[in-house]
Amino acid sequence: MNPCEECSLEDKTYECCGRFPDTGEVAFLKIDDTRGVYACPYLDINGLCTIYEKRPLGCRDHECSRFIPYKKIGRLGEEE
Ligand code: SF4
Ligand code: SF4
Repeated sequence: MNPCEECSLEDKTYECCGRFPDTGEVAFLKIDDTRGVYACPYLDINGLCTIYEKRPLGCRDHECSRFIPYKKIGRLGEEE
């Protein structure tokens, strides 16, 4: 299971998609009539990246702490 699929919008804006990495640009993302968050302009209301296939290197190289347990499992028995 990819942890990104279970990640809340709030967690995404805190950890990985709170701003566009190349420029630092943010935009207000309206959640409902009373709530919203500042986030990367390319993050949509469903927590998906609207430019996923063309996202910059800074996004592709992002090391998320939520993936560390998955990486460790994947490396069992393998040489670093
Ligand atoms: S990279 Fe990390 S914080 Fe970002 S969506 Fe995936 S699990 Fe969530
Ligand atoms: S470009 Fe996409 S992956 Fe990168 S920070 Fe923005 S929404 Fe997240």
